[in-house]
Amino acid sequence: MSRIHTATILERKRIADDALEISFSRPASFDFVAGQYIQVKLPNLLHADPRGSSRVFSIASSPNDRQRVSIAFRRSASGFKRSLEQLPLGGHVLLEGAHGFFTLRHAPRRPIVFVAGGIGITPQLSMIRFATEEKLAAPITLLYLNRSEKSAVYLDELAVLARRSTHLSIRSTFKAVDMPDVRQAADDFPTAVWHLAGPAGMVDRVRSLLSLSAVDELSVCTEEFVGY
Ligand SMILES: Cc1cc2nc3c(=O)[nH]c(=O)nc-3n(C[C@H](O)[C@H](O)[C@H](O)COP(=O)(O)OP(=O)(O)OC[C@H]3O[C@@H](n4cnc5c(N)ncnc54)[C@H](O)[C@@H]3O)c2cc1C
Repeated sequence: MSRIHTATILERKRIADDALEISFSRPASFDFVAGQYIQVKLPNLLHADPRGSSRVFSIASSPNDRQRVSIAFRRSASGFKRSLEQLPLGGHVLLEGAHGFFTLRHAPRRPIVFVAGGIGITPQLSMIRFATEEKLAAPITLLYLNRSEKSAVYLDELAVLARRSTHLSIRSTFKAVDMPDVRQAADDFPTAVWHLAGPAGMVDRVRSLLSLSAVDELSVCTEEFVGY
């Protein structure tokens, strides 16, 4: 059931050259499943924004973290994002949700391949954090696509998680995704469930490369960050 919750801004953290993580206090009644998203509404905008005072963000934190709910975005001219950057710590926001089906719903032992384009890592990070905390049985491989190492968010944390867990491996590329990367992963994990997240263009491209690699479309889940 969707509900509106009041939360406070707890912390802002730089997670790459041009990207921020914002953490809100987690209301006791707010529940979500790793991979879901929320709508964040600001009670007032400090900077005008033609798209208004709310946006949708995937939750990056784990559902096991009862203290905070975290989101992440790249800094931009957006009046909404500049306001969220500048509102005082302790200030109030409204969280509506959680929503979405981009979650770990498949057979627990099937390998999982996450493909994240840049900031699209957020729902997958929530799932990776949760899966490593819960020591889930499914092996996870992350294909992490970024323009450059400097712009790749959460790279250090992901490297630490991969060192600690025999179930997680990371393949990062700092160029546009191409057929050999996807075909290699499709060959390595023929029974995998695929999760693709990021800007719509990137998700579409990987979906077509998977189709060319004969991956069954029922094994592919997607989350498109509409709005970019
Ligand atoms: C299911 C789902 C999950 C998502 N998860 C995430 C997520 O985890 N992280 C994330 O970053 N995004 C996520 N998105 C996308 C997010 O909802 C936003 O649409 C996206 O971040 C773009 O934000 P923005 O509109 O603030 O525009 P940006 O692309 O950041 O900036 C351009 C915007 O700035 C405005 N603008 C430009 N110049 C000015 C100016 N001078 N003054 C005022 N306004 C100006 C324009 O109107 C435009 O809206 C998700 C979307 C969906 C559907």
